[in-house]
Amino acid sequence: MAEKNRGCFSMICIFVGSFVKMKITTTIEEIGNYLSIIKREGHTIGFVPTMGALHNGHLALIERCRRECTITVCSIFVNPLQFNVKKDFIHYPVTIDHDINLLSVSSCDVLFHPEVKEMYPDEINSAYDFGILEQVMEGKFRPGHFGGVATVVKRLFEIIRPDRAYFGEKDYQQLIIIRKLVALENMNIEIVPCEIVREPDGLAMSSRNVRLTPAERNIAPYIYQLLKESVSLAELMNPEEIKCWMNDRIKQKSEMRLEYYELSDVHTLQPIMEWEKGQEVIACVAVFLGEVRLIDNIRFFS
Ligand code: AMP
Repeated sequence: MAEKNRGCFSMICIFVGSFVKMKITTTIEEIGNYLSIIKREGHTIGFVPTMGALHNGHLALIERCRRECTITVCSIFVNPLQFNVKKDFIHYPVTIDHDINLLSVSSCDVLFHPEVKEMYPDEINSAYDFGILEQVMEGKFRPGHFGGVATVVKRLFEIIRPDRAYFGEKDYQQLIIIRKLVALENMNIEIVPCEIVREPDGLAMSSRNVRLTPAERNIAPYIYQLLKESVSLAELMNPEEIKCWMNDRIKQKSEMRLEYYELSDVHTLQPIMEWEKGQEVIACVAVFLGEVRLIDNIRFFS
């Protein structure tokens, strides 16, 4: 537990049975009871939902949460509902012992690590309507994905009842959808966006990167190089021309397959046809490298 919290949390630490140890829970009842006590003491609960296989991108969210909240809760749950391709779910990396070590070293206070049957004891209806927000990019190419994401995040929010929740801009469309979810459900939770953490060679950190072969890993940084180059073309080309340019450049790499490259308004996610003065634009990309699907994004005109 962070130094700043120690004085006020002596009572809770007695409950936990250890002064500095991270609390790990797998049941909704246990974490609910535990956090109720903390809430009653008036502390700020920050929440970082993850699917595990943690890396420095996740840890940056934990770090920011720790700076801004008195209690940091992380969840690790590989949510079957958000995988539209079963193989992707089966091959999703699981490194729980390593994750627990990383979280402990990062002074995370509580880890919630439930089983699927704990989260979904009954049949689930994961249908949501986010309108245009889910009809583009990830929503278009991964049918049902955001319904699954919204279902798990809503459930986690109801269990944890955080004051703030931290999400990475790496999954930009997800961030916008979660904001919409919180508004639709009238939840009093501040959604805090956190910038993308990259490897030294520019590749956006991702749990899926470990599935790349050495050869694929070598060329993966090309995705971010192209994103940066596309930004520099905005003065010379219109959005449609930049999209064609991107398509051509990816085609030149036989190991890569472009699923989409979209230029969108940062708020509405509507694809843009022309540059408009003052409009904030984001370029989002999804690329297959072998069997591994990588996403990334970059801001234009920021
Ligand atoms: P995941 O475990 O992939 O579901 O990600 C959990 C959270 O970490 C999400 O809010 C992601 O957007 C965020 N995240 C994943 N990778 C990165 C990264 N490279 N930089 C910043 N945030 C990230």
